[in-house]
Amino acid sequence: GQKEETNMNDLADEYLRLSYHGLRAKDKTFNADFKTHLDPKVPKVNIIPQDFGRVLLNLFNNGFYAVQQKAKLGIDGYKPMVEVTTEFLEKEEEIVIKVRDNGTGIPESVRNKIFQPFFTTKPTGQGTGLGLSLAFDIITKGHGGVLEVNSTEGEGTEFVITIPVN
Ligand code: ADP
Ligand code: MG
Repeated sequence: GQKEETNMNDLADEYLRLSYHGLRAKDKTFNADFKTHLDPKVPKVNIIPQDFGRVLLNLFNNGFYAVQQKAKLGIDGYKPMVEVTTEFLEKEEEIVIKVRDNGTGIPESVRNKIFQPFFTTKPTGQGTGLGLSLAFDIITKGHGGVLEVNSTEGEGTEFVITIPVN
């Protein structure tokens, strides 16, 4: 893939839908809400859209998986939710993309391993453990950005991507 001037808001919206509908197609009992909060001030940015799309798709798939796992616990009033937020930081000339879920969260004991290749807590066949290590390389080496995680076990998880606009 080549770098192209890309509308990040459209990409986030497109891949969130793609993730949701892909999971629905595989499992008709799959059910979750999803929401976008897209900053109209986000400028076009020079990225490899296919690579960035893979990153987003993996973050969304992980989010939906985490809310599905939590939904299985049968907690009263629990509403599975995956959200994406974009924001343009004008002074810093950066775009911040947050992917948030209210799923299982990541136990502290494994948090420092999730970006390692082949690390997965999913059953065989459900995860390769390559998604986040690939995402890390694409964001940092491929786009000069930063990928961070905030998570509370039992509450949910937020991945934060920061990329420079120029
Ligand atoms: P895979 O999805 O194939 O397991 P990833 O590299 O995408 O591989 O993720 C690695 C691990 O990080 C997952 O197996 C899971 O334990 C943890 N993880 C990633 N995203 C989330 C999330 N949103 N909520 C809870 N755990 C997560
Ligand atoms: Mg994954």
